[in-house]
Amino acid sequence: MNKKPIEILKAVFGYDRFRGQQEDVIEQLLAGQDALVLMPTGGGKSLCYQIPSLIRPGVGIVISPLIALMQDQVSALLQLGVKAAFLNSTLSQDEVRSIERQLLNNELDLLYIAPERLTSGRTIALFQRIQIALFAIDEAHCVSQWGHDFRADYLQLSLLHEQFPTIPRIALTATADEKTRQEIILRLNLEHAPLFLSGFDRPNIRYRIVQKQNAREQLIEFITAEHAGDAGIVYCLSRKKVDETAEWLRSKGINALAYHAGMTNDLRSLHQHRFLMEDSLVIVATIAFGMGIDKPNVRFVAHLDLPKSVEAYYQETGRAGRDGLPANAWMAYGLQDVITLRRMLADSNADEAHKRLEMHKLDAMLALCEQVHCRRQALLRYFGDHLEQPCNNCDTCLETVETWDGTLVAQQALSCIYRTGQRFGVGYLIDVLRGKLTERIIGFAHDKQSTFGIGKELDEQQWSSVFRQLVARSLVSVNFDHFGVLQLTDACRPILRGEQQLMLRKDIKPEKSRLRKKGASKSVSRGGSNSELWEALRAKRREIADAQDVPPYIIFNDATLTAMLETKPANRQQMALISGVGEQKLKLYADQFLAVISDYVGEHTISDTVTESADLFKLGFTIQQIAQKRGYKEETIYNHLSQALEQGLLVLRDVVELPDPEIKRIEEAILSLPVEQQNALKPVYELFDGQYSYGVLRCVRASLQYQTA
Ligand SMILES: [Zn+2]
Repeated sequence: MNKKPIEILKAVFGYDRFRGQQEDVIEQLLAGQDALVLMPTGGGKSLCYQIPSLIRPGVGIVISPLIALMQDQVSALLQLGVKAAFLNSTLSQDEVRSIERQLLNNELDLLYIAPERLTSGRTIALFQRIQIALFAIDEAHCVSQWGHDFRADYLQLSLLHEQFPTIPRIALTATADEKTRQEIILRLNLEHAPLFLSGFDRPNIRYRIVQKQNAREQLIEFITAEHAGDAGIVYCLSRKKVDETAEWLRSKGINALAYHAGMTNDLRSLHQHRFLMEDSLVIVATIAFGMGIDKPNVRFVAHLDLPKSVEAYYQETGRAGRDGLPANAWMAYGLQDVITLRRMLADSNADEAHKRLEMHKLDAMLALCEQVHCRRQALLRYFGDHLEQPCNNCDTCLETVETWDGTLVAQQALSCIYRTGQRFGVGYLIDVLRGKLTERIIGFAHDKQSTFGIGKELDEQQWSSVFRQLVARSLVSVNFDHFGVLQLTDACRPILRGEQQLMLRKDIKPEKSRLRKKGASKSVSRGGSNSELWEALRAKRREIADAQDVPPYIIFNDATLTAMLETKPANRQQMALISGVGEQKLKLYADQFLAVISDYVGEHTISDTVTESADLFKLGFTIQQIAQKRGYKEETIYNHLSQALEQGLLVLRDVVELPDPEIKRIEEAILSLPVEQQNALKPVYELFDGQYSYGVLRCVRASLQYQTA
């Protein structure tokens, strides 16, 4: 097979062009050279080794640490007609022998293998008898002992280089940091391999961090307004909260399941399996969930608790939108989050140096939350990446955050802490500042205090925002031994003395937020009159996937389905042009999806004669004039226009010149008919004693049908 990479990309994978550095990496391997690839999740890493494996003689060997991921990739390749298999602990002896036979007969293009298997003498002996196209080391950061995904077996992978010095190797990871990168190079002997470093931006993810008020209510509103019927992940810090949140979502009619380390293995893998297989399941999880999840159509990741670091935030939010379609990373964040995480760090058993490092990481995360400029720019800057312009796809870009001079109120808050003896939590302090005469305040005689009632101009919400920002900036510390008591730090002195100005973020009140209503983050354009077809396409995909027991996205991903929805191909030639439809899938599935589309189009297209009448009407001709001009009865033209109304091509008020209350009366009459009669106009005609013609009634009904479709 002497095809070019671009030809294989089209024929096998169904894509027209490469993304980012894919083509350069492929050329490097085709030239027999090694490569180190750092690409963000969803950047198309796997094509970098899959295509050279198809071109170079022999089999491409892929080392992958996660069994679930391995099986997923192999199923996806089989769908494409690529001869792929995996070797891992889930196989029986017979299955292993069968795969070994295929290898010896040079019948495989790609073999996925677990790292521990690679180090056995049997495997190496086998490899020495077969032709190998390349070695791909996926999730290469597992070789790093500093990272949290360390796998001891990865340390043995240097033997690939020693035993097979002439076979090109490619190491791939989505992990960003420099230290891990150096360790990969060192441990895998990749000193001479060029580094292919892609930016870490995930432009299709919209970052939003909202102020926490009633987090659950905010979550449900976010999901119902923007992600009804979508797959998503909700992260919580504790197992208890995971269980409670999942149950709460279910009680609100959302298909949600829990996932955490406290569940039995069986239940965990059942929930993970369902998440992969179903289109519209929300998984509520601790951070235990995610590794090995390669579901491309996760439309949102929501955080109900603050992640411990920017790295964790980036990694967790990165599980959204791997298919490149719009996705949301949404988080609710408040003062309590800061207190909880600081407390967890303070209570941990780690040594002081480690604690300090973790504190710094948390501070960086807090700074991201309190950002008043583009969040994406800040996020990328953290990873040493650079974005020239504000992104226009994060909350701070879409809705400008104002800042205000908070020096005076900060002084008030700080002296209130001081004057009440640094012995109280935030709720009490706000009551003192706002001059509330509670029993406790009177008991402590704090109503006689100079700071009592000096802060009436701010409401509780605003004060809470001020305290949150003081804590986030470490101007105030939280004493965990004493029930979250706030105390002053050295850093606050310049502000108390009036030597330093303090600018604060003006939080946007959720009910005032325009972002929600903009709906710009609606994932896929499948609303309106297309939603019926979208559901029909999804149902077909699901039916095919269920029959083969594979996840639906392996049949066609959402992007491909959306392209079908938008272009409505009418034959195989047109279907072949759609991105993600390669030769094999065209052969296997095109006809089934074409049938769904043609059924829909048959029901919904309007004939040329209807279009002609509607076009004349839009040009300003009256119904009477059109009837004359075309030699039809007026009733026929009404019929044409009603069909156009049903498709939303015309507006009722333009067609039917009746006052609104009369239209309303007709609509009510139609709607009050028994269901089985709702297509009959005669009862309505008679109800109004023939006052409205059948033509008019038909148009009102058509418009109703469009509105309720
Ligand atoms: Zn931005």
